[in-house]
Amino acid sequence: MKEQHVALKTLNTFGIEVFANELYTFHNVDELISILKEIKDTPNLILGGGSNILFTKNCDVPLLLNRIKGISIDFEDENSITLKVGAGEVWHELVLYCIENNYAGLENLSLIPGRVGASPMQNIGAYGVEVKDLIVKVEAIDKKSLQLIYFTNSECEFAYRESVFKRKYKDKFVITHVYFKLSKNPKINTSYGAIEAELQKNGITQPTIKDVSNAVINIRQSKLPDPNIIGNAGSFFKNPTITIDLLQKIIINYPDIPHFKLEAETYKIPAGWLIENAGWKGKTYDCYGVHKNQALVLVNYGGATGKQIIDLSQAIIDDIKDKFSIELEREVNVF
Ligand code: FAD
Ligand code: NAP
Repeated sequence: MKEQHVALKTLNTFGIEVFANELYTFHNVDELISILKEIKDTPNLILGGGSNILFTKNCDVPLLLNRIKGISIDFEDENSITLKVGAGEVWHELVLYCIENNYAGLENLSLIPGRVGASPMQNIGAYGVEVKDLIVKVEAIDKKSLQLIYFTNSECEFAYRESVFKRKYKDKFVITHVYFKLSKNPKINTSYGAIEAELQKNGITQPTIKDVSNAVINIRQSKLPDPNIIGNAGSFFKNPTITIDLLQKIIINYPDIPHFKLEAETYKIPAGWLIENAGWKGKTYDCYGVHKNQALVLVNYGGATGKQIIDLSQAIIDDIKDKFSIELEREVNVF
């Protein structure tokens, strides 16, 4: 289906008021191939749920909206099940489907907005689980050759909020289906963040995957702005990785800086802590700003432009560099 001059306000969770000259919606691989043939080699943009994108201008290239649905069983044995999932399925609905059927693995990733097709893009992660832990393979269409290609888990080159689709093959493929291997013998992971405390608060000592999912949902609803009410795209920045030398220098002035050891003498620092300690939390400029409860989230209270948000993010990047000698990197895709 092709539409012209389409308002994108409700198609991006930041709620930025821009337009697409041409919007094509596809519901299966054949429709996608027809669209790619029609637009020939014109550069284009794929959109899922619009929850990880900041529009800084009107979309002047064809916008291709992925609505490929369907969940089917690809393989099953007594211990596991592999599901083939359409890239246009809503992520949280997939999580709920798995919980209802007692397929374990995705419960810590409850309530992440967006569609399944974007989940491998930045290897979505939360509460100690990354989607790379569950993905068996990714099916995608090569935009140029129109061939269907399968990427194994290792070929996706997953890393923290990264994959081959976000870097090396940026804009080269349309993800059409994702295969997830779920366990029938749940290994509950409650060690991260506030999950344990949330379960204890509700008197749960032997949690099921549904209990974990509910705990994650409760924590997220209490901390994060609901994009239906306040425009945002979740964490605007990635958590930086720094060397032990730099950490030791920062600790002199900030002895309580949280830090998590990675491999090879490097440490992850929560970007939210840096932004909050630099005094940005809750800062509001007219109709946009830094969220009052979560400094990692930039917000649009209504009517902000993408340029205002990007300029704010640059001011934060410059200030953090100045104060901590750490270069923050944006996580959100900027168009
Ligand atoms: P979109 O915003 O539509 O697209 C994102 C990027 O992927 C774009 O560059 C787009 O061109 C590309 N793309 C999308 N679909 C395809 C496809 N099928 N083929 C090729 N390219 C494609 N992220 C986390 O990792 N963890 C979290 O806990 C988390 N929490 C969030 C909380 C809130 C309140 C919000 C608003 C966002 C959060 N996010 C989180 C970010 C976001 O929800 C995820 O990154 C999500 O996977 C994006 O999905 P989407 O369908 O909305 O992607
Ligand atoms: P949180 O639980 O308060 O944790 C704060 C920070 O400490 C996060 O940066 C987290 O890293 C890190 N952390 C906490 N416990 C850790 C542990 N045991 N080991 C290593 N690192 C640990 O964070 P939050 O802001 O409320 O978010 C909760 C989870 O949801 C986090 O995993 C976060 O990444 C995810 N989330 C992501 C987005 C997004 O848009 N990307 C938006 C909202 C929430 P990590 O961030 O690496 O986990």
